[in-house]
Parts: sequence; C-alpha cells; structure tokens
Amino acid sequence: MKQNLWINGESVETETYRPLFNPFNGEKIADVAEAGKKDVRKAIDSAAGAVRAMAEMDAHKRSDILRRVAEFIQEDREECARLIAEESSKPLKIARGEVDRTIMTYTFASEEARRIHGETIPMDAAPGGEGRVAYTVREPLGVIAAITPFNFPMNLVAHKVGPAIAAGNTVVLKPASQTPLSAYKIASYFHRAGLPAGALNVVTGSGKSVGDVLISDDRVKMVTFTGSPEVGKHIRENAGLKRVTLELGSNSALIVDEGTDFNKVMPRIVTGAFSNQGQVCISIQRIFVHESIADKFVSTFVEEAGKLKVGNPLDEQTDLAAMISANDVARAKTWVQDAVENGAELVYGGESDKQILKPTVLLNAQLTDKVSCEEVFAPVVHINTFIEFDDALAQVNDSQFGLQAGVYTKDLQKAFKAAKILHVGGVMINDIPTFRVDHMPYGGVKLSGNGREGIKYALEEMTELKLVSIKLD
Ligand code: NAP
Repeated sequence: MKQNLWINGESVETETYRPLFNPFNGEKIADVAEAGKKDVRKAIDSAAGAVRAMAEMDAHKRSDILRRVAEFIQEDREECARLIAEESSKPLKIARGEVDRTIMTYTFASEEARRIHGETIPMDAAPGGEGRVAYTVREPLGVIAAITPFNFPMNLVAHKVGPAIAAGNTVVLKPASQTPLSAYKIASYFHRAGLPAGALNVVTGSGKSVGDVLISDDRVKMVTFTGSPEVGKHIRENAGLKRVTLELGSNSALIVDEGTDFNKVMPRIVTGAFSNQGQVCISIQRIFVHESIADKFVSTFVEEAGKLKVGNPLDEQTDLAAMISANDVARAKTWVQDAVENGAELVYGGESDKQILKPTVLLNAQLTDKVSCEEVFAPVVHINTFIEFDDALAQVNDSQFGLQAGVYTKDLQKAFKAAKILHVGGVMINDIPTFRVDHMPYGGVKLSGNGREGIKYALEEMTELKLVSIKLD
C-alpha cells in the first residue's frame, strides 16, 4: 500500500516514500509519503485558503460534519481498531477502546460546535463605562498546526482536529511517523462528511523538518502539540508569538493509603501501570503504598501482573504487546538495571523478547533513579512505602512533571488535603492517575505542559476572544 499526502482535499504524491513496519512482527505495512518543505508549505497554503470558508460556515454545519465523522468511525470500528493495532502494536481490545473514545471525542466536538458563545459585559461597573452595551464573541484563529504522538494515534488526533473544526479553524496535521495511517483514515472521513477542501490537511515526514516549517510559518496561528517534553520545549522556544498548547509526558504517581481495600481495585491499578505497554502519558509509574499494607499489596500486584497475557496485538486475549521501538525496549531495560544497581529490588519481569518487554515491577527505587524521576514510557513500575501521608504527598510532588495523580484513601481529610497539595493538572481521588474521559479538562503543569484539552477547554484555546462595545448615545 502506498500512502500519499492529503492536501487540499486530494491525495498528493511526493518524491520520497518511507517503508512503515509493524512493530510486533516487523512486516511492512505501507510506503508512507515523506513530505518535503515544499509539500508542507503547500499544505499551509491550502489551509490558509480554506480559512474564510470555515470561519463563515454555520455552527450547525460544522456540528453535522463532526457528527458524521463519528458515525463513519462507528461503522468502521473494527477496521479502525485493526489499523491502530497494526501500526502501533496496541493490543486489539485496547485499540477498540481507543476507537470508542475517538467516536466520543468527535461526538463531544459536534455538540460543542453548537455551544460556542461569549458573554455580556456590564461596562457600567467601571466609572467611564456607562452608556454602553458590550459583549464578547469567540472567533476561530485560522490555521492550526496539530502535531501528534504515536500512542493514541486516533484519539489524540481527535482531541486536536475535533475542537479545531468545531471552532471553524483549518488544520495542518502532522501525525507521528510510526502511526500515520490512522490520521489519513480520519482525513478521508472528514472528506466524505463534506468538510471543505483545504480545511484538513495531513502531512507525514520527519518531525523536525515538517515541524520546523509549521512552527516558523506566520500563517500558522497556533501549534497544538502532544508528545515528549524535549520536542515541546523546542516548539515553545521557536514558535514566536503563536499560541502554543503543549500536552507532554509525566511519571504519574499513585498513593495507596492504609485501610484501602486494594483487592477490589488491583486489576484496575495493574491496568493503569501496563496498559499499552506503559506507553500512556498518565501510566502509573510510581506507587507509594502505606507500610502497614505494603507486603500484601506487592504480592497481590505481582500476582495480578502475572495474569497479563503477553503476545500478538491482534490476538483477542493479548493485554501487552510490543513496544514502539527496539531502542525504547533497550532504554527501559538499562534504566531498570541502573535502578537495581542503586539498590532497587526487581520482583517481577525485566526480560524482553524481541520488542516485547515483560511487565516489570521494582521495589524501593530511589526517587533519583531514571525509572522514577524521568518518564519511563514502558511497562515498568516501582513501588515504595510510606508511613506519613504528608511524606507520600511530598514524594509525588518531588517531580519535574505534573500531569495527573491518584490517591486511594478512606479518610476524607486526607483526600481533600491531597486535592489541595498535589501539584498536577488533575487529582483522582479513589482512582488511578490513568483515568481520563474525553470531555474533562486535561493537561499538565511543570514539564507536563500547559494548556488544556477536553473539547470545551481546547475550544477556548483554539478561539480568540473579541470584545464588541456599543456606545448608546
Ligand atoms: P515525540 O517523539 O515528541 O513525537 C511527537 C510528535 O512530534 C511526532 O509527530 C513527531 O514526529 C513530532 N516531532 C518530533 N520532532 C519534532 C520537532 N523537532 N518539531 C516538531 N515536531 C516534532 O513523542 P512520541 O514518542 O510520539 O510520544 C510519546 C510522548 O508523548 C511521551 O512523552 C508521552 O507522555 C507524550 N504524550 C502526552 C500526552 C498528553 O496528553 N499529555 C498524551 C500522549 C502522549 P516523528 O514521529 O516524525 O518524530
């Protein structure tokens, strides 16, 4: 299969194509277009050319297009899940979950498209403001560059394209090189749904060369990026006055307080640590468990981890499959080994078979070990103990990241304290940090980024607030 670029409502050939391989079995899936700088500029031309048509499109029409996209995905649910599983090695049952969430995200975008509005401003609240009627409106920004990662190739595209189109913007989408096919598929649905040519363009190719053109072009008004902190920083430093939203990584933590009935929630905790091979930005990486329940917690955790079925992502039973690259497997193993050398105890996993890294559990890692303080982005978790709840909160906060945190406790005072003290974008009480539904505000602090997604919140970032003041006399 040859995958061309998608520009101005058409499949566009380019000079260079790169083979795309299935990370699990190494088989070639497609030859994918590598956009040159000229192609990227052409995509921006096309997005700029569609700005007016999108800005003038009625809200109900934008809403209908998004609803139809959701319907098309629903009809092709199985095909979409297989595509995700093939290009990203996400186990099929988890890929189906991603497709369902993608449908939800476009459905929310369709609904929010009808609800974009400003407010009236009581101008006479200030001396000198009397005799005026004033109101605000939310206007689209114009061309938005959306850059997305490999780990949720459909739903994270939806979190950018959905609100951008809902607000009447146009988009140049640059998906991750390992997972371009899901993005092209979505573009075909928008085309079928009646989106004007040029309103959504997809360009694939090296992140740096495509990214640099997008980031430096003045016609691009916003860059919305999900990916690693390194690339996020590069974008922030080079985007000039463009609006920039960054959804970056984390080393998410879970606190399990004394008195927690963890048997009931253990399957959920283990899923939060290992789902999608730990390649989830809110994957559980650090667990702080109260000393009084630690031994039982660890043995139950390891027992539950042992039930995970490791193997082919297309097998219905598989829970955990290949990581995205051999380099990432090697990196994670080195970090595990370093932690062990620094005194951590490896109680489960640690071995790999080709690109599959077994679920790996460490005890008592140092907070300065890379498996703790960096984003491991692999099926690796460490469990440490605490005695004082305040110390556990301090350890969670002792991080360069701050995306989400989870706290299991039966004590209401501690729950409120955690909600107040934890320096993260979202605190999940009696749940795992990995919890997300697609309309909630979602984003991080510190190195986890800035700005919020969750359709309504992304819409605020993707629109300009304009004030209209009418003097009455
Ligand atoms: P990545 O390497 O940063 O890549 C993300 C995207 O940026 C890809 O499309 C990549 O293209 C592109 N890119 C690379 N270099 C670039 C540059 N210089 N300028 C512009 N774009 C560039 O991240 P990843 O490995 O795909 O994804 C994993 C990271 O994403 C983790 O850190 C994870 O925590 C984070 N993440 C965050 C969230 C969130 O919502 N906070 C959600 C999911 C993932 P190529 O693929 O061509 O290199």
